[in-house]
Order: sequence, then C-alpha cells, then structure tokens
Amino acid sequence: MTLPDPPPATLRLRIDTDALAANWRALDRLSGTAEAGAAVKADGYGLGIDHVMPALLSAGARQFFVAHWSEVPAVLRHTGGANIAVLHGVTTPQEANFARATGTIPVLNSLRQVQIWLETGGGGCHLMVDSGINRLGIAPGDLGAPELQRLEVETLLSHLASADETSAQNARQLQIFRHATTQVDARKLSLANSAGIALGPDYHFDITRPGLALYGGVPRSELASHIRDVVMIEAAVLQIRQLSAGDTVGYNATWRANKPMRVAVLSLGYADGFLRSWAEDGALQHDGQSLPILGRISMDMVIVDCEDIKLQEGDFCHLIYSLPQAAEIAKLSQYELLTLLGNRFDRVS
Ligand SMILES: *Cc1c(COP(=O)(O)O)cnc(C)c1O
Repeated sequence: MTLPDPPPATLRLRIDTDALAANWRALDRLSGTAEAGAAVKADGYGLGIDHVMPALLSAGARQFFVAHWSEVPAVLRHTGGANIAVLHGVTTPQEANFARATGTIPVLNSLRQVQIWLETGGGGCHLMVDSGINRLGIAPGDLGAPELQRLEVETLLSHLASADETSAQNARQLQIFRHATTQVDARKLSLANSAGIALGPDYHFDITRPGLALYGGVPRSELASHIRDVVMIEAAVLQIRQLSAGDTVGYNATWRANKPMRVAVLSLGYADGFLRSWAEDGALQHDGQSLPILGRISMDMVIVDCEDIKLQEGDFCHLIYSLPQAAEIAKLSQYELLTLLGNRFDRVS
C-alpha cells in the first residue's frame, strides 16, 4: 500500500540559511589568516544536516567536523569527498577501514587509536593532543612515543576548555599546544572553537573549528555583533479556549486564572525540546504581541495567554530562538537549546 504524503506539520523549525552562511563568513573573517572549518556534528547541532551543509558549502566552508562515524554518510552526500574529520577517532579496526573506504579522516586521540590506525594500514590522519580539558587526546607527555613518528599527521589539534570565559586556562592551554607543535610534525594546526576565535590571532593557527556560533550561538560577547539568529520556532494553535475566573491550566494545576480570559493551546511540547524550564519566563509571539506561557509545558502542547490578541485555531505563533536570550529564559546552555530540538518539526529553510 502506498501512503499519501503526510500533511504539513503543525510545528516548524525555520532555518535562516542566509544567516548561517553569513555567520560562517564572519567567523572565517574573524579567523584572520586561518581558514574556518565547520563543526556539523549532532546533525548540524540539531538543525538538520541537509539544511546546514548546502549553506556552509556555498559560503565557502571546506573542512567539516563530526563526532561519530554514523554521521559521515549524511555529510558525504553533500561534500561528495574528503575533508570530513571524525573527532572520536578510531576505536575499532572497522572504523579505520570505513575511514579509508570513504576518504574520511579520523582524529586520533590515544596511543591505542594510533596503533589501530597504523596496524590497519596508516595513511593521512589528524592527531588530538590534550592541553588540559582532560577529555579526548594524547597526553603531552606521550608525544615522544615512537609510533607517533610513523603517522602522517595532516592536522594537529587541541581543544579549549574555557574559551567562553576570561580564564587563565586559555593561555595555559595555548602554551601547552604551542609546545606540542614543536614535537609533532603536522602540516596544519588547529585550536580554536567558536569562542576561541574571539580570543584573538594567537589562538587561530591554520584552521578554526566553529560550531555553536555558526548556528546563532554567542559564546563570548565579542562575537555578538557578528552573529545573526538562525532559528525560529513556529507552532500552530490547536485550540482556543475561554477560561472562567478560578480555572486552572495544565498538569498539576500550577496556574490559576484570576479573571475570565482567552488562552491558546499550541502544538509544541517538551518532546520537541521545548523543556518545562521555559514555563516560568517564556512566551511565544504573534503579530508582534507576546503570548506568555501558562502552567506546565506538556509533552506535545503548551498553553499561552492570548487575551486581547487576534489569534485563531490554525494560526501559527512563533518564537525567535535567539540563543543567548533563550539560554537565560530556559536556564539551559546555548548548545543544549540547539541539540535537543526534536524530530517532529518540519525543518524548513
Ligand atoms: C564541538 C567541537 C567544536 C566546536 O565547538 P563550538 O564551541 O560549538 O564552536 C570544536 N572542536 C571540537 C574538538 C569539538 O568537539
């Protein structure tokens, strides 16, 4: 049986690909003589790889970073070739073989990963040195290990732990990375994420690796004037109801009307990534007017105050997903706000 196409969703994620491309160009410019790559892991930070890749490629991005091997095919469909770096590296020989078969380059993170890569045939690779985040990467003290001499290191990387803060850790990591670059023979060097780009030329080296800021995140205030919002949420009104004074709204009756009023039930809930933490200070908008959230957010719905607002069942309300501001309202990080967006949105660009 062939099913008809499903009707359009009552929930949309509108992705401004012009803003995304402009953000990449701004970050590339801010990277000075270094070339900006693009972190597109986690499905393009939740926006959908098929929406972000064409925009990034047209802007000029050529070096893409994912975390998992499972993320490679979707990116390859757009690049049609190499220049995909896999940050988790090779944990098994199968992964190493997959890398070679697809022309994808692993970021080797440990001596065991180096061994797997060499035993399965070696070849061009990236190498991560841990300069203090104590997450993935070879310890600086292990950089003299003889097997490292047998690697063909394309890019030597490290990753900043506190680039979004004014922290002495940044300069410490820079110094450790600089020293590492004297021990490893690599064609290129890469240290900065989005926030690291704003730390200045010392941190840029050859390739920068912005993620968050491409998608509208502002990890440091220096970037604010350069970065545009990329995401807007649009949710349909499923029902309008009239409340009487004393009526309560939603699960556990946490909100009570003190006068007769009109409310709207919208097709957006925590299963879509609109978590309950939005309820206290959050609001959606319609026609330039604010629709404050009432009571608890449900899995599939949220109830808003639409007294005095021209709003009908079937209309769409929106939420400009401005990440710095959303992070304050929802008490979530800008990263979480992006990557928790669910799959019931029609992603449109
Ligand atoms: C995710 C990631 C990035 C991108 O970081 P942002 O803070 O999103 O710009 C860069 N490098 C590595 C190693 C990462 O894991």
